[in-house]
Order: sequence, then structure tokens, then C-alpha cells
Amino acid sequence: MARRKQIYEGKAKILFEGPEPGTIIQYFKDDATAFNNQKHAVLEGKGVLNNRISEYIMMGLERIGVTTHFIRRLNMREQLVRHVEIVPIEVVMRNIAAGSISKRLGLEDGAVLPRSIIEFYYKDDKLGDPLVSEEHITAFNWANPQEIDDMMAISLRINDFLSGLFAGVGIKLVDFKVEFGRQYEGDMMRLIVADEISPDSCRLWDMESGDIMDKDRFRKDLGDVTDAYREVARRLGVLRESENPGQSGPVLVSDNGD
Ligand code: UDP
Repeated sequence: MARRKQIYEGKAKILFEGPEPGTIIQYFKDDATAFNNQKHAVLEGKGVLNNRISEYIMMGLERIGVTTHFIRRLNMREQLVRHVEIVPIEVVMRNIAAGSISKRLGLEDGAVLPRSIIEFYYKDDKLGDPLVSEEHITAFNWANPQEIDDMMAISLRINDFLSGLFAGVGIKLVDFKVEFGRQYEGDMMRLIVADEISPDSCRLWDMESGDIMDKDRFRKDLGDVTDAYREVARRLGVLRESENPGQSGPVLVSDNGD
């Protein structure tokens, strides 16, 4: 890692310059933060699991024609992704009431929403990522109306894909957050899915027991956070039996010989 230039360090990931122009290496840390950084912990093995889960989901999206920044996984903690200009909006898609929408609108956690609801949040840690409307987004030029339409259409496709994927392994997709990036090719620009999709950015409930299998375990101090993420990975079939991230002992840093 010493040879590489660090571009950015976020709460759960570090970005390094990639090997070719237009690429970036996304390194998944074990750090977990919540409540706008007021709560922090290191959860051993989380980064390895999120790298794998996000790889699996991004590859699945590519297969249904949703373009993402993902190129390939490099090793246990890193993936090669396309360099994009991040749209400063977090798109949240909700199927079931939980978290901030329950508080804001006085809904019962677990209530099925009348239909899937899309929300936009302005990405600004200092402001605590405030909820914004399309009016704010266009007025302040964070994205144009066409981009908003594209983000909504793509998010609906992601919702259908993920809902089915998780339902198939006995997990309810309550909500998720997705980020988009602008990719420039000559004078063409397209929006592609960026960042990560993992139990850090989704709410996932076991269909039978209702058990929480996502970052709410950390937010609510429920414990066994990485165990829950590992169970998500195991059900999706992305963990080989021999791999057991988060257990004591040496951690394999690279599994493809580089
Ligand atoms: N979320 C996220 N990053 C954020 C805020 C939310 O990944 O900065 C995800 C969160 O994990 C949940 C969904 O977006 O799956 C909706 O989150 P909510 O607005 O309910 O906020 P929270 O209760 O997480 O503060």
C-alpha cells in the first residue's frame, strides 16, 4: 500500500489511485461509524465481508444491465473500480418503515409502506446529510432533472433486483442507500452506480425470526455485527467454507497471488 497514492479516506473505505487512468482502488476498512460519526468502532472482518458482498451485488446488477463502477475484486479488502465524479446525493429506497422515516413520520417500525418510496439526502457530513427534495437538487445544481430521473429509474431496478435476491435467501430488504457517479467518455456522460452496496448501506431482516442482519446491530448495540454480515454473505453463497474473516489468526491479504 505504501507505493500507492491515497486519494481519499472516508469512514469505512479508503480510495487509492488505480493502476490505469480512470481507475481507483477501493479499500474496505473494518471501521464502523454511526450517528454522523459520533459512534465509532472497529469490527474485525467487516471490510472483508463488505468487499465480497458488494462485489457480488454489483456483478449481479451488471448482469441485468445496470452499469456500476465495479471492475474486479483485487484481494480480500480491495476492488478496482472506475473513477467517477460522485453525485452529492444519497438515494434511499424504502419498502418497509424503519430508521429515520419512522421517526420523521411517526410510523411503526416494520410497517409495509404503501409503495416503495425514494428519498434524496444531500451528502454533507457537517450538515448530517439532510433530506432534500428535487427542487433543492436542481436549484443548487447538485444534479439535473434528467439525472434525477435516471437515478430514480435505476434505483427502482436495484430495488427489484435486491428484493428478489434477498427474498431468495430468506431476507427482507427493508431499505437501502445507493450513490451514483458521472462517468465521462469523450463528450458523453453517463450515471453509474458507485460506492458500495452491503449490510452497511441496507436494512436486512431475517424473514422468519425478524432478526436484524445489518448495520442497525451496531447502531442499536445489539452485538454480533460481523456474525450477522457473515450470515448474509454465507446465504448469498459468497463465502467459501475455508474463509472465516473476523476470526483470530492471520488474515489473508491477497488471494490471487499478487
Ligand atoms: N444509509 C446509509 N448511509 C447514510 C444514511 C443511511 O447507508 O449516510 C442507509 C441506512 O443504512 C438505511 C437507509 O440508508 O439502510 C435509510 O437510512 P435512514 O434514513 O433510515 O437513516 P438512519 O436511520 O440510518 O440514520
